[in-house]
Amino acid sequence: MLFSGFDLEEKRIINEVLQRKAKRVLIQLPEGLKKHGPQLAEILGRTGALPIISADPCYGACDVTVDEAKNLAIDLIVHFGHSKTDTQFTIPVIFIDAKATQSVSKVVKNASNYIEEWQRVGLVTTLQHARALEDAKVVLTEVGKEAIVADTGVLKYPGQVTGCNLHNVTAIVDQVDGFLFIGGGRFHALGVALSTTRPTIAANPYTGEVAFLKDEVQRVWRRRFAEIHEFRKAKRIGVIVGLKIGQKRLARAVQLKKLVEDSGKKATILVLREITENGLQQFPTLNAFINTACPRLALDNSFHKPVLTPREVLVAFDRLEWETLCREGWFESEI
Ligand code: SF4
Repeated sequence: MLFSGFDLEEKRIINEVLQRKAKRVLIQLPEGLKKHGPQLAEILGRTGALPIISADPCYGACDVTVDEAKNLAIDLIVHFGHSKTDTQFTIPVIFIDAKATQSVSKVVKNASNYIEEWQRVGLVTTLQHARALEDAKVVLTEVGKEAIVADTGVLKYPGQVTGCNLHNVTAIVDQVDGFLFIGGGRFHALGVALSTTRPTIAANPYTGEVAFLKDEVQRVWRRRFAEIHEFRKAKRIGVIVGLKIGQKRLARAVQLKKLVEDSGKKATILVLREITENGLQQFPTLNAFINTACPRLALDNSFHKPVLTPREVLVAFDRLEWETLCREGWFESEI
């Protein structure tokens, strides 16, 4: 085990490089794992291939860096930390789970003290801890709970969620008293909480911290409600199309442009790779934006003008009830 806390499957990668006779290999890592890039490159370099690290930000399997790989005449992309989606690639890509080696049993036992009144617990996690859900189930069963793990087949593992793919949450929402999310940080846990009105608790196996997400969810709901209200007053709208391979939804953007124009407002389509506050500020005549790319962007960041998800736009145009949005979630992406 060369990389503390994660299994980066270096032997498997070396075999793949040798078997495929790859001459140039692009290494793509999410932010938390980038620090291991140089060591991985050193190991891969021993095969005789030229390893190159992609240093750009990478937050999901929606962002496999195929265009850059083509520019660099890459033979193989090794993408860490996210699981394969339905997207077809023109360059071979291997996905490495980056399985966490940290045990989850202790934090799940601790979490069970916070959910005494729950009988049926929906268990969800990220790719890194997906294979530890069986251990979590055992702990919950020992304290008299029924652990329910959905297997919708849309992601690699039962109970797995991504930032915007919450099918393994919504599939069991009527069968559980609440959701227990296992994993580090708040990003995925908040996504779970935002896709259901059931209570959600986050258990962090790295820090041992356990937290209910109620206040954070209320804060996001209030901010989103205010932005939808502001959006209704806007006259000129920018409809954003992301350039990342799994975020490119031009047809959806064209539909939304028409919806905006049919309401008497003006709409312009913008394409961006990184959607940032600075990027949007370059368009002072636009009063609000619709983001058809990563749906978490507007939910997790504050922009100076309203930036709505497509489902929020439906609320703004009275085609979807606010209560339905809160109950069923903000995301329509299948990434
Ligand atoms: S589109 Fe989905 S998978 Fe991609 S970065 Fe956003 S939340 Fe993550």
